[in-house]
Amino acid sequence: MESLFHETGHAMHDIFTTAPYGTLSGTSVSWDFVETPSQTMEEWVYDPAVLESLSGRYTNASETIPPDLARRAIASRDEGLGIQYSSQLAYALEDMRFHTASGPVNVTEVWNETCVEIKGRPAVAGTRQPASFSHLMGGYDAGYYGYLWSKVYALNVVDTFEHDGMTNTITGLRFRNDVLARGNMEDGTVLLTNFLGHEPGVEPLYAYLGISRTQAASNTA
Ligand SMILES: [Zn+2]
Repeated sequence: MESLFHETGHAMHDIFTTAPYGTLSGTSVSWDFVETPSQTMEEWVYDPAVLESLSGRYTNASETIPPDLARRAIASRDEGLGIQYSSQLAYALEDMRFHTASGPVNVTEVWNETCVEIKGRPAVAGTRQPASFSHLMGGYDAGYYGYLWSKVYALNVVDTFEHDGMTNTITGLRFRNDVLARGNMEDGTVLLTNFLGHEPGVEPLYAYLGISRTQAASNTA
């Protein structure tokens, strides 16, 4: 369901465009913004009312998901978030370190150091993660952070919906008109600032991961 909603977010970005040129429309946006509509849409799957409205027993579609099962399905999402997001951060940093190095790089060493710094443990001895990390080159170069950064943007958008109501049609239309329809006619941060009424910030990601602001500050100090 999450993947279906994710890809629907990309589809909506293309379908709702009002841009006059393909190069300015839909998903033809910055790499660190392109996953924003898709990751925004994922959040609807985890809204109890939306989840119930989508559900149906395979033998009887009118029988919807029991509230306790829905609650547990939503709660299970938090499982392994720390590992998942620290890995994303390590990949993003590793990618950035290779692409900002001034000379030859021992990629295995850099990856190992990044693992220790971010995940608190070295990579498995004898493994060569950089050899299979295809995002390092081929057009995405130094852009892996975009997944995580788009998530920051997405959670800013979701914050507004959570405040207004996840199925609020006025907010939905504003998201369509202010963000989705605009494609690359303006920078993503401008579109988001128009929609949010303020510049996007990292707080919604911290809240999503259960990190308090004081923890985050002491970890980066
Ligand atoms: Zn995507």
